Amino acid sequence: TFELLPGDLYGYEGLLTDQEKTALTNLRSYLESDVRPIVNGCWERAEFPEEVVRPLAKLGTYSFGWPETRPFANSAVFRGFVALEIARVDASVATFVGVQNGLACGTISVTGSQEQRDEWLPRLASGEIVGAFGLTEPLSGSDAAQGLRTTATRDGDLWRLNGAKRWIGNGTFSDITIIWAKDTADGQVKGFIVHTDAPGYTATKIEGKISLRAVQNADITLDDVVVPERNRLQNANSFKDAAKVLRLTRAEVSWAAVGTAMGAYEAAVAYSRERVQFGKAIGGHQLVQDLLVKSLGNITASLAMVVRVSQMLDEGSQRDEHSALAKLYTTARMRETVAWCRELFGGNGIVLSYDVARFFSDAEAIYSYEGTQEMNTLIVGRTITGQAAFV
Ligand code: FAD
Repeated sequence: TFELLPGDLYGYEGLLTDQEKTALTNLRSYLESDVRPIVNGCWERAEFPEEVVRPLAKLGTYSFGWPETRPFANSAVFRGFVALEIARVDASVATFVGVQNGLACGTISVTGSQEQRDEWLPRLASGEIVGAFGLTEPLSGSDAAQGLRTTATRDGDLWRLNGAKRWIGNGTFSDITIIWAKDTADGQVKGFIVHTDAPGYTATKIEGKISLRAVQNADITLDDVVVPERNRLQNANSFKDAAKVLRLTRAEVSWAAVGTAMGAYEAAVAYSRERVQFGKAIGGHQLVQDLLVKSLGNITASLAMVVRVSQMLDEGSQRDEHSALAKLYTTARMRETVAWCRELFGGNGIVLSYDVARFFSDAEAIYSYEGTQEMNTLIVGRTITGQAAFV
């Protein structure tokens, strides 16, 4: 039977169909039995649990969004709850899914030809292959459109790619990576599906992270990597097409941010019931209740926002500023919430085994990726004022 999440005070899950609720129940059960027990160890060792890739595929996690692969027709709100469910157990696994499903499948769905969608989406959706998305570079992050330096030079039916990418999630073990590069002929940003075993392609793991440690981020170098024209994304003709993908994934990241806050909140509620100080469970102290109530307020407001943004996607009215505002708002609320929840644990809040420390640390990367607070603010500011402050 389907149970409302403890952090879903207003019952937004009531918007889901019975079929969607069953799919979420199955996902939740797998996450609790197989994922939750291993994630602290993976975080500590900075290893990704590759054994989750196929089971998450079977549960539909990378299939639901695409007409070519979805097991049943479903809503964007449902797909948001899928991201949330995963993040409330582990933000690194949610980030893996965000890359595989949102960035890799999403790019191919939005910018690929029908032939490319038919070729790649079933393979990604089944977990047969893992995808990555390479936009950011060592010298360009926020200014990915103007500052992109990787080049693509056409050579008959082939393209030659040269340059470097940084921070690429799943990049150490992906089978394909979508590489965004500037066409040396027309100066436009184009997208390419690159096989990671191609000569000249090198991926090196970024070590020493203090956030999302289980996510494998890579520095990638492209040294005259040859890509056939049929692997150029046929409908990716400028940076505007990459931005269409980012609009969708920013909305998904907002859901994952709510899930991350919820994971910390649930851990804090449980701890407030068991930890005794001054002769009673700390949840009975007024200031501890304040931490929990402020956290639930943040989660509830954020959930309202992401539900509406997803409904707008289904209605065909979602624009860049809608998902940018959701991303900047929900990640800011997440950052406050995980800090309050960590505070509630006292000293135990900095120990991995109590879970809350992992949510607290992971929130930092979610706050910065898919467009920083500042860049998403400038996207919304452009809409309000009609003036772009970042070009
Ligand atoms: P910078 O762009 O150097 O920004 C530094 C600071 O300057 C920020 O605070 C920024 O907001 C501020 N700033 C910059 N310009 C302005 C301005 N005009 N006005 C005001 N403030 C400004 N990228 C991918 O392509 N694929 C991935 O899979 C991927 N995964 C990631 C996973 C993780 C864990 C992380 C940390 C990053 C990932 N990224 C990925 C990259 C991510 O999207 C970038 O880190 C992000 O866009 C910010 O770019 P930057 O780090 O280069 O920071």
